Amino acid sequence: MFEKVLIANRGEIALRIQRACRELGIKTVAVHSEADREAKYVKLADESVCIGPAPSGQSYLNIPAVISAAEVTDAQAIHPGYGFLSENADFAERVEQSGFVFIGPRAETIRLMGDKVSAKDAMRKAGVPCVPGSEGALPDDPEIIIKTAKDIGYPVIIKAAGGGGGRGMRVVHTEAALLASVNMTKAEAGAAFGNPMVYMEKFLEQPRHIEIQVLSDQHGNSVYLGERDCSMQRRHQKVLEEAPAPGISTRLRDKIGQRCADACKRINYRGAGTFEFLYENNEFYFIEMNTRVQVEHPVTEMITGIDIVQQQIRIAAGEKLPFRQKDIEFHGHAIECRINAEDPFNFVPSPGRITTFHMPGGPGIRVDTHAYQNYMVPPHYDSMICKLIAYGDTREQAIAKMRIALSEMVVEGIKTNVPLHSELMADAAFHQGGTSIHYLEQKLGISSK
Ligand code: ADP
Repeated sequence: MFEKVLIANRGEIALRIQRACRELGIKTVAVHSEADREAKYVKLADESVCIGPAPSGQSYLNIPAVISAAEVTDAQAIHPGYGFLSENADFAERVEQSGFVFIGPRAETIRLMGDKVSAKDAMRKAGVPCVPGSEGALPDDPEIIIKTAKDIGYPVIIKAAGGGGGRGMRVVHTEAALLASVNMTKAEAGAAFGNPMVYMEKFLEQPRHIEIQVLSDQHGNSVYLGERDCSMQRRHQKVLEEAPAPGISTRLRDKIGQRCADACKRINYRGAGTFEFLYENNEFYFIEMNTRVQVEHPVTEMITGIDIVQQQIRIAAGEKLPFRQKDIEFHGHAIECRINAEDPFNFVPSPGRITTFHMPGGPGIRVDTHAYQNYMVPPHYDSMICKLIAYGDTREQAIAKMRIALSEMVVEGIKTNVPLHSELMADAAFHQGGTSIHYLEQKLGISSK
């Protein structure tokens, strides 16, 4: 096992990784920007290194600064968390070239999955069901573009191969609008992602977002840890997640889960990963793979009892997975609410000092947060300040626990989206389960584009 790990991230995930390291007896190095100097996980780390000013481009995204920090502290491995450099293949490569272990997949895997055209192609070949669409990138020939759309059937969606974060996509409903939309998406993709390549997919009208968590070691073992439903979204950003997904049969979960685990073996995947799917009419359609830990990993940890972050570290250190697929059991139901420093209904960020901070508790309640009373939420980063997770034997119990936990939570000095989550806990459609990715925006009365 490693003796010292550098955590190249901030916020709740930096603390989460630090806790996993400590449980494994590993010393930690926190890197931080000037804005995060006072952060709790920085104080709790064995060592800390300031890597630059507040803007993430000059600190958390500064590859040479992160690598120098690992060098001066003699860390052996780097955990990238999520966001920032976690899916940057060049970073993973530089880390390994500098003699450190990257706690994640190999750089070539990240590169393969980072290009959506090559990712989809690899998944199709590995037997993972994909959204019907163009064979690879769209060619320039307008005739072929028109024919492709006709074959797929309208509406279609034009997506940038290099896109991410819900950007670089355009829905097309008619042939008349097709070529102009393709050209516009290409131009935007070239400007935004440095890659004008686009592809076409069938646009699914009312899908759910369901994803499969996997773990793969370096000895040829891959398992799936079931699914999560992340359909409650606003502007393609997840707001609330749960596991298992309501209404998905064990048979269907096992079938799609096994396909994902088999695909991992085929691409020689290493570490934790997530296969994201759109789900409609009992069918799963692969959209992308995330090659890192996800914000919503706790709901899977709650229903499987498996510490995903600890497994990431063990896998990177060369250990074998300590369980096989048949050993993995799913118990109960878990829900995660992302608590953001923002106005609950117009979503304007609300950074500033937290003057009062009381967190809920009791059986089945987990709070993952780096915030505390008097903590200053910096304006430079993502607005998520806390993840509130409720676990119960049944979905109804998990909802009841979440409702109570939200009512116990007191955060003053800044605005949070707790009122929105409280409203969702009382929402009839949410109670029923299985709402589409458009549900939240429809409920809020905002259009999805
Ligand atoms: P990103 O990497 O930008 O998140 P994704 O491919 O994961 O891009 O797509 C983001 C979101 O866009 C999906 O969660 C879904 O809401 C929507 N979307 C993408 N592809 C389709 C499709 N074929 N049909 C309907 N919605 C889609």
